[in-house]
Amino acid sequence: MNANVTQLIRAQVRGHLVQPGDPDYDSARAVHNGMIDRHPALIVECADENDVQVAISIARDHGMPLAIRGGGHSGPGFGTCDAGVVADLAALREVTVEPSTGIVRVGGGATWADVDRATAPHGLSVPCGVISSTGVGGLTLGGGHGYLARKYGLTIDNLLAADVVLADGRRVTADSSHEPELFWALRGGGGNFGVVTTFTFQAHPVSTVIGGPMLWAWEDMPAMMRFFVDHCADLPEDVYGFFAELIVPPGPPFPEALHLSRACAIVWCSITDPSRTTKALEPFRRHRTPIVDFVGPLPMPAINSMFDVLYPKGTRSYWKGDFFEAVDEEAVALHEKYGRQVPTVQSTMHLYPIDGAPARVAPDATAWGHRGTRFSQVIVGADASPASDATVSSWARDYWLALHPHSAGGGYVNFLMGDEGPERVRGTYRANLERLAAAKAKYDPGNLFRVNHNITPA
Ligand SMILES: Cc1cc2nc3c(=O)[nH]c(=O)nc-3n(C[C@H](O)[C@H](O)[C@H](O)COP(=O)(O)OP(=O)(O)OC[C@H]3O[C@@H](n4cnc5c(N)ncnc54)[C@H](O)[C@@H]3O)c2cc1C
Repeated sequence: MNANVTQLIRAQVRGHLVQPGDPDYDSARAVHNGMIDRHPALIVECADENDVQVAISIARDHGMPLAIRGGGHSGPGFGTCDAGVVADLAALREVTVEPSTGIVRVGGGATWADVDRATAPHGLSVPCGVISSTGVGGLTLGGGHGYLARKYGLTIDNLLAADVVLADGRRVTADSSHEPELFWALRGGGGNFGVVTTFTFQAHPVSTVIGGPMLWAWEDMPAMMRFFVDHCADLPEDVYGFFAELIVPPGPPFPEALHLSRACAIVWCSITDPSRTTKALEPFRRHRTPIVDFVGPLPMPAINSMFDVLYPKGTRSYWKGDFFEAVDEEAVALHEKYGRQVPTVQSTMHLYPIDGAPARVAPDATAWGHRGTRFSQVIVGADASPASDATVSSWARDYWLALHPHSAGGGYVNFLMGDEGPERVRGTYRANLERLAAAKAKYDPGNLFRVNHNITPA
């Protein structure tokens, strides 16, 4: 980008501009996934909505790719691009809470840790994911599932409104009565429709939970996986647990004798009282004796951030996702086979229940295409060292390929990688894809917002 153009842009924005050659260029272009190494022409660290409008107009008017960065946690690195403009929203992270109504307004570049910090003092929580460093922007626009999902739904089911800057530079508020089609598309359609500068959520009265991981020896994995799949839907909806395969981290609080051993786990988060929780978890404790049982009372922000330390910025990750209606005997055997090969401490397989409240929302009420499906699965190959890239990636890919024939087709859009084609996007949105393409034609006919799992304008 030539110096005159940069000069002109500099005069228009309040935030910081970063270009190749600047001392902070390498840190400014880095996203969470250390495997991503892209070189944008310009990074606009947006200070306000006006800066967002400027970033959009530069990309549009110069025919350049435009990457929108919320928390920067996208696996395929959609928060950056080569030879284009990055609109980094990290400075738009203000969170305000109305304690009497539970309405929470969140800046488009906030993380869930920012939200927790603001809501927890009021005994409130917004349903989010299981790692608090993730961005509100990408997680919400893709759907968002986590500890409160069975009781209160996906993150999008708690979205009341969004302030959006569109591809043509207009600023609109989308909710159920203003721009309703945009509001529909934003709830699951990812970053395809505009830049959300403020999300408005309905929070819920959740403060102390009873949660944490329960681990079983690897030889109990098949029995525990079967038991989990057969019984987790019978749990009260205020008791949530996701299933995991892992290598026990070599440090506290895990007993030394277990360090680096293979195990399976259920990570619990119950928002009901202690006696109902104990009763609900008792059959799982009885089915096979846990080797570690860390379940206890915790503030909600503590469980939301419990695993942040495992995935610091720069972790090199390759992941694959799918949805599942069932996990049959053949699938359990495949999990046993590939779980035995989990290559690193940061690599894992998670099976997240999405029954309960998410399943009660009509399949066409939001763009999210898998209402009624029982599980969302992610296989994460991850490590700190570039030397492990090939090993962790091929493990995740092979595991996914083996399980995929048992899946419901498509995967949670936030668990798709960059090497997945339009068929995967179709499988993800199913019957909602046509309506999404029509909304895309209305709100972004030139496909400016294409650094994402793209929806082609109809
Ligand atoms: C360690 C880890 C744990 C995770 N756990 C969960 C989980 O428990 N549950 C879950 O649902 N997901 C989970 N995810 C997936 C997560 O939802 C996605 O990676 C998500 O894209 C992260 O959002 P972000 O804003 O940080 O990402 P970014 O890379 O900033 O953005 C991702 C996409 O969203 C778009 N986008 C972001 N913000 C905005 C905005 N304000 N306006 C318009 N477009 C925007 C971007 O353009 C891009 O296409 C996890 C990811 C990681 C790395």
